[in-house]
Amino acid sequence: MIARLRTLLCLAVLAGPAVGPAQAQQADIAATYRAAADSLIRGATADSAAYRRLGRLVDTFGHRLSGSASLEAAIDWILDLMKADGLQNVRGEPVMVPHWVRGEESAELVKPRRARLAMLGLGMSVGTPKAGITAPVLVVSSLDELQQRAADAKGKIVLLDVPFTDYVATRKVRTDGPSAAARVGAVACLIRSVASSSIRSPHTGQTRYDSTGARIPAAALSVEDAAMLHRFQDRGEPMVLTLRMGARMLPDAPSRNVVAEIVGREKPDEVVVVGGHIDSWDVGQGAMDDAGGSVAAWEAVRLMQRLNLRPRRTVRVVLWTNEENGGAGSKAYATSQGAQIAKHVLAIESDNGVFNPKGYILAGSDSSAAVVQQVAGLMQPINATGVQRVSESPAADITPLAEQGVPAMELDVDGGRYFWYHHSEGDMLDKLDPAEMARCVAAMAVMAYVVADLPDPLPHATN
Ligand SMILES: [Zn+2]
Repeated sequence: MIARLRTLLCLAVLAGPAVGPAQAQQADIAATYRAAADSLIRGATADSAAYRRLGRLVDTFGHRLSGSASLEAAIDWILDLMKADGLQNVRGEPVMVPHWVRGEESAELVKPRRARLAMLGLGMSVGTPKAGITAPVLVVSSLDELQQRAADAKGKIVLLDVPFTDYVATRKVRTDGPSAAARVGAVACLIRSVASSSIRSPHTGQTRYDSTGARIPAAALSVEDAAMLHRFQDRGEPMVLTLRMGARMLPDAPSRNVVAEIVGREKPDEVVVVGGHIDSWDVGQGAMDDAGGSVAAWEAVRLMQRLNLRPRRTVRVVLWTNEENGGAGSKAYATSQGAQIAKHVLAIESDNGVFNPKGYILAGSDSSAAVVQQVAGLMQPINATGVQRVSESPAADITPLAEQGVPAMELDVDGGRYFWYHHSEGDMLDKLDPAEMARCVAAMAVMAYVVADLPDPLPHATN
């Protein structure tokens, strides 16, 4: 998943051509880059190469949770293939990552009848004692109601049955709920899955404990199971539930950020980053989240290589590790780059699923936005010319770069189905479409190539 930090406080859709003195030198972007953009779009959309490569990755290795052997095996495979592709400076940059394991887990309703519930432990949760935790259940509809009913929560398993509105708002229940429940004396915390649709599918995701409070086991129930427990409470039928979770933290484990480049022909030290995150949760295949974005970024760079389009600056694909439960990969990348971050011209991430692309979401200065909008105009053949502006980094892994003024962009896609499958067993290859993914590759290739080749770098936010 995505731990998007999108804030739409400052949302503005740029409409119409940008005009201004700072952009005069970029005014001929359309004329200069039309042919290259068209050939990248034709190349990306000619076949299903990206989707086939994604299928090989996720079917061969499965999920890629931080600390797992499958993540490292997938990284080895990608590094080998990137070398075979002829990319330059292919390397795995070492990162130590948190190593949480799920273990065996279950939630069983004991009263008013025995029933196995559809559940998934939340990432980074502590486990229960071996015999489980058996306790009465209190259902509340919000974090506020939990505070109002604090006196009723002591000794209970609290269920936060909060309906999905949007991801950033509803995610707060998952991240903050368990510690809030612990503060009012709950012995375990359940949440309604953060999902916009459900066929009784539980959805996991990271929770975060307060540094000072008690750490109680935390899990998500399917939307349907949460609703059933709520109905029992509404009818005045007391509930008892047994939660068993074998979750535990192991010592930090070695992982890697995957890096490969096309070295710039004139300004090799100036860099456009394009990437996704290679880790995933331990359910399904992490195909949407985020193998798809990772492979699309990689394919965008491979396409430039294949078409002999070598831009003025370096284009670097970065597949960050540990986005889902720690962000160690993005922090390590920023730390290792140090002063070189000033030479990062643009950072692009795809972490919303490689559905039909609509354009880009940008955090950056007005002058960089004006240039980006002209480049987006080249995406007219795939109808992905939109540029939305946001005030904070639109994607998690590029946040450390955005915080130092690097223009940061996320591929904007038609995400209507994303939260049906996100962080669930349903996140498998079939949820993605080869033609839609090909258009995502095209959109990433055109943006990365043209910005890397412009005569002048995109201005940083502080400039
Ligand atoms: Zn993600």
